[in-house]
Amino acid sequence: MNIIATDLIAQTTCPYCGVGCGVNVNKKDNEITVKGNTEHPANLGRLCVKGSSLHETLVPKNRLLTPKVNGEEVSWDQALTFTADKFKKIIQQDGPDAVAFYVSGQLLTEDYYVANKLMKGFIGTSNIDTNSRLCMSSAVVAHKRAFGNDVVPGCYEDLEEADVVIFVGSNAAYAHPIIFQRIVKAQKDSGKKIIVIDPRRTATCEVADLHLPLASGTDSFFFNGLLAYLAQNNYVDQEFIDNHCDGFDSAVESALIDTASIKQVATICEVSEQDIKTAFEWFAQNPKVVTVFSMGINQSATGSDNGNAIINCHLATGKIGKPGAAPFSITGQPNAMGGREVGGLANQLAAHMDFANKHEIQYVEQFWQAPNMAKQQGLKAIDMFNAVSDGKIKAIWIMATNPVVSMPNADFVKEALLKCELVVVSDCMDNTDTAKIADVLLPATTWSEKEGTVTNSERRISLQKAFVKAPGQAKNDWEIMCEFAKKMGWEKDFDYTDAHEIFVEHAKLSAINSEFNNAFNIEALIDITKEDYLNFKPIQWPVTAQHKKGVKRLFSDGKFFTDNGKAKILTIKPTAPFHKLKDNQLIFEYRAYSGSMAHNDTYRQCE
Ligand code: SF4
Repeated sequence: MNIIATDLIAQTTCPYCGVGCGVNVNKKDNEITVKGNTEHPANLGRLCVKGSSLHETLVPKNRLLTPKVNGEEVSWDQALTFTADKFKKIIQQDGPDAVAFYVSGQLLTEDYYVANKLMKGFIGTSNIDTNSRLCMSSAVVAHKRAFGNDVVPGCYEDLEEADVVIFVGSNAAYAHPIIFQRIVKAQKDSGKKIIVIDPRRTATCEVADLHLPLASGTDSFFFNGLLAYLAQNNYVDQEFIDNHCDGFDSAVESALIDTASIKQVATICEVSEQDIKTAFEWFAQNPKVVTVFSMGINQSATGSDNGNAIINCHLATGKIGKPGAAPFSITGQPNAMGGREVGGLANQLAAHMDFANKHEIQYVEQFWQAPNMAKQQGLKAIDMFNAVSDGKIKAIWIMATNPVVSMPNADFVKEALLKCELVVVSDCMDNTDTAKIADVLLPATTWSEKEGTVTNSERRISLQKAFVKAPGQAKNDWEIMCEFAKKMGWEKDFDYTDAHEIFVEHAKLSAINSEFNNAFNIEALIDITKEDYLNFKPIQWPVTAQHKKGVKRLFSDGKFFTDNGKAKILTIKPTAPFHKLKDNQLIFEYRAYSGSMAHNDTYRQCE
C-alpha cells in the first residue's frame, strides 16, 4: 500500500450508507486506523461497526487491476478504443437509444456528472439510470409532487430535537446506525417518544415506546387515517394550510372514505384501536414530530403515494420547516442524493432541472454546448433491462453496481445481459456476478483511492478523499468516461484535469436555478479553490450568495418550489395488497378498499 498523505491523516467520508459520516484516517506505527470525525456534523465522532472496519478494505483483495476485453488483458487504449468503436457502430446503425449507462449510488457526484453529461448531452439519449432508482425514486416523486422539487426539508438535528420520532418502513438500527444512535441518545436525555411502524419486530423496535406492526402494504391507510383524525379533531394548522398549501379539503374527503374512524384504521391495518389512538394522539399533540421513512415505504407498488400520505400529515399540521418537525426520507446509499443532483435518473436533466421545462433543456444544452442534447426522458432501470432483453438496447455500460444480483428478477437481468451485443462493466472488483459476464472490464478506483463529493440524507455535501495510490491500472470513473468521450470525438468537452474542475462546472450549472425556482443551487461554491475543495467543509445545500453557509432546514418561510409557491397536499386513494391462491400460486393484487368500510370480511375474504 502506498500512502499518499504525508501528514498521515486524511479526513474523508464513510462510503457505506446515506448517513454520510465523517471519518479520520490515521497512521500509527505503520498501522492504518479509522475514527469518527468529531467535527463532522453527521456523526460528531461516532462510527458504526461498518465505518469502523473501513481500514480492512485497504487490503486490495479480488481487485480488478487491468482492463480486459473478452477475458484478455489489454491496455487502456485498446479497451477504450474497442468500446468506443462498438458504441459508434451501434449508434450509427440503430441510433443513440440503442445504448445505455446503468450507474450507481456508489459513484461520486463528479463521476455521475460526467456520465450524465456524456449520455444526455453528447451521445444524445437519456438512457442513463441508477440503482438508486430502486430505493429512492418513490421518495423523489413524493417530494416533487408535494414541494415542487426533490428536497428533503429537515436535518439530523431535527431528529434529536423532536418530541416524537416515527420510524416507518425503516430499520434504522441496522441500516442507518449512527442516525439511530443519535435518536436513542436524545431519547435518554430528553424522554422523546419513539414509534416504530413495521410489520416486523426489528432491532429498531427495541427502543420503541410504541410498535405498530401494520399489515403489509397498509401504510397509506394509516396516514390517511391520521389525516382524517387530525382534521376531525381540530389538530390541523388552518393558517398554514390557508397560506401555504393546496389540496387539503380533497385529501381529507378521500381519507374519510375508508379511514374516518380509529376503528376503521385499526381493522384495515390489523393493529389494536388503542395503539392507533395512542400514535395519532402523540402525532397530534406534539408540535415537534419527525417521520423517518425509508425502504419499507419506498419499495412498494404504492411507494410514492405512501410518501405523500406521510407528507400530507406534516403539511396539514404545519410540522415542517421548523426545528424538530419534518417528514424525513433517509437514503440508503452514500450518494443516492448526489446522483439525483446531477441527473443520474433517466427522467431528470441535471442540477434538478426537468425535461418538462423546455427552457431548462435549452439552458443545459447551451451550458454544455451539447451537440446532441436529449429532449426527453430515457428508460428507467426495469425498462432498461427489458429493452436489453428485447434487443432494443445493444450496448450497456454498468458502473459500480452488480445488477445480476441486485436487480429484482435478477435471473432475467442475467439472461438479458448474456444476449446483449456489448456489456461494459467498470468496477473495482473482478469477481462480481455482473463482471463475470462482461465483454469489457474496466478497473475503477474505490474508497480511499478516489476523490470527489457525496451528499448524505440531510443534503450535506462532503468529500471522499484519495489517500492511497490506486492499485494496478485502476482509474477514477470520471477519468475512464472522459477518455472514452475523447475517443468518441468530444475531446474539448471532457478535458477535465481533476474532480475539482468537474465540481466547479457542476456548481456553475446549478446557479441558474435561482431563475428557474429550483431548490438545488450551490452557486456560492463556484469559486472554490482546489485547496479548499481538498479540505471541503461539509455543507448543506442550497449554498447561495444569500446562504453562503448552506441551509439547515428548508421551508421555514412557508415558500415551496411550485408554480404558486404553495405545497400540495395530495389526494391519496390507498390500495392494499390482497393475496389469494390461484392454480396453487400465491397471487398479489393491489386494490382499493371497499369504499364503505365496515367489512373486515371484504378485506379478509380474498386471503
Ligand atoms: S452509519 Fe453509515 S455512514 Fe455512518 S459509519 Fe455507519 S455505515 Fe458509515
